[in-house]
Amino acid sequence: MKYLFSKSKPRDECGVYGVYNHDKAANLTALGLHALQHRGQDSAGIVTSNNHKFFAHRGMGQVSDVFSNKEIIPKLIGRLSIGHNRYGTTGESALKNVQPLFSELDFGGIAIAHNGNLTNTNQIKEKLIKNGAIFQSTSDTEVILHLISTAKGNLIDRIVYALQSITGAFSLVLLTNDSLIGVRDPFGIRPLVLGKLNNTYILSSESCGLDIIGADLIRDVEPGEILIIKNHKIDSIKPFKKTYLRPCLFEYIYFSRPDSILEGRNVYDVRKSIGHQLAIENPNDNKIIDVVIPIPDSGNASALGYSEKIKKPFEFGIIRNHYTGRTFIEDSISVRNLSVKLKHNPNIFSFKDKSIALVDDSIVRGTTSVKIVEMLRNCGVKNVHMRIASPPVKHPCFYGIDTPTKEELLASKFTIDQIKKYIGADSLKFVTLDGVYKALGFQNGREKEKPMFTDHYFSGDYPVKLIDQDAGIYPAQLSLLIEPTK
Ligand code: AMP
Repeated sequence: MKYLFSKSKPRDECGVYGVYNHDKAANLTALGLHALQHRGQDSAGIVTSNNHKFFAHRGMGQVSDVFSNKEIIPKLIGRLSIGHNRYGTTGESALKNVQPLFSELDFGGIAIAHNGNLTNTNQIKEKLIKNGAIFQSTSDTEVILHLISTAKGNLIDRIVYALQSITGAFSLVLLTNDSLIGVRDPFGIRPLVLGKLNNTYILSSESCGLDIIGADLIRDVEPGEILIIKNHKIDSIKPFKKTYLRPCLFEYIYFSRPDSILEGRNVYDVRKSIGHQLAIENPNDNKIIDVVIPIPDSGNASALGYSEKIKKPFEFGIIRNHYTGRTFIEDSISVRNLSVKLKHNPNIFSFKDKSIALVDDSIVRGTTSVKIVEMLRNCGVKNVHMRIASPPVKHPCFYGIDTPTKEELLASKFTIDQIKKYIGADSLKFVTLDGVYKALGFQNGREKEKPMFTDHYFSGDYPVKLIDQDAGIYPAQLSLLIEPTK
C-alpha cells in the first residue's frame, strides 16, 4: 500500500478551541482562534450546534481572512461551537483537510478538531479501507471519525474505543448536537486547557485563548482525560490504562505564546529562565560579550534572561518585519533564504566593532542563523557569539510540530563545531537539556528514568511508539489525488 501515500510533510501545528453555552459561541470561537493564530496560519474553521442542526464555515488563510465577511459569523448559530487553526502549504492543506471535520453518524452529527499527529494512522486506515471506508480527506484526524462511526455502544463508549485504537499526540475538541468534549492523549503531549466565563465553559489549546475573551483559566485537561460538557455540567473520565504527563518541551521553547500558562508555568518566565541557564553554563561570557541581541521574536525572552545574568545590555539590534510569515512556511530553500531577509533587518550601526551575543531559541536547518550572522558581519560587528536557548535539534517530531526530516536537521549531521563554521559564528553554545529542565524547576535536571516532558527532538526518546514510521510509512496520507493549495 506504500504507493498510496504522499511524501509531503504533515504540518499539523494546530490550535483548537471550544465553547459550551454562549449566545455568541461562534464569535467567542473566532476570537479564541485569533489568539491561537500562531499555532496555525494556513486555514481556519468553526462548526456550531443549536442542538438540532450544525452550521459550519471553513476556509484557507488566517482567521481574519476566513471570517472577514461580517455576514458569516451571525449565520453560525447555536450556543455550542468548536474551531480550529491549521498549518500547511502543500496539497495536503487543501480545503478538504480544513478542520473541524464533520460527519453524520447514526446517532447524529459530530465535528472534530485535532492538534497533534497520530503515529498509527496508516495501520488503521488500511484496515478501515479494506472494510469499505471511504476517506474524504488526507488528514489523520478523519481516522478518529471512522473509528467512532464503526464502534459499538453509546457515544462515549464509541469515542473511548476510537481513542484507545489510536496512538500519537492528540488534543481534541469534539462537538455533538448537545455536548462539547475535550480530550488529551495519555501523555498530554499537546496542550489543552479548560476555562470558564460566567456560565460558559471554554476549551482552548493555550490559556491566551481564554484571556482574549476574559475567561478564567480553571485548569489543564489532564493526560488521558476526556471531559464531557453536557447539561451544564462537566464529567471527567480517564479510560486509558497508563497515563503520565509528558508534555512537549518545544511548546515552552518555541511554539506556545509567551503569555500562555501551561501546566502552571508562564511560558515567558520559562524562556527567561532558560536564558539564565545559558549564562550559568557559560560563565566566561561576561568577559567576551559587550551586548546581547535576540533574534526577534523567538529569542527575546531567553536573550533577556541571559543578558540579566551576564550583566550586559540587551538591545534590539535586529528588527523584525511582522508582516511576513514564519520561515518554515516557505517550501524551497531559495525562497526560505529570501524570507529571512524579508523578515529581519539589522538596526545596529551603534554596535559596530562590538562583540555580540546573538540569542535564538533554536537552530533547525540553520537558515535563520546563517543569514543573521552574515547580516551582522556586514554591519561591522567585531564578533558574533551565537547562544541557543535549546539543545541541538537532532531528531524530527512526529507528534504535531513541523520539523524537517532527520537529514535536514543541521545538528543530526554536524558536530557543534561544524555548525559553528557553517553559520559563520565566532563561537556557538547550546543550553544543555539538564539546563532546560532546571529552568522548568527540576533542580536535578532531566530524570533519565522518568523525564517529565517529551524531549525527543533533543534526546531521541519518543514516548509514544512510532508505528507507521517504524514500518517505513510516514506521513500516512492517502493521496492519489493531489490538489494544489487553493
Ligand atoms: P532554522 O532557520 O531552520 O534554523 O530554524 C530556526 C528558526 O526557526 C528559529 O528562529 C526558531 O525560532 C524557528 N523555529 C523553530 N522551530 C520551528 C517550527 N517548528 N516552525 C517554525 N519555526 C520554527
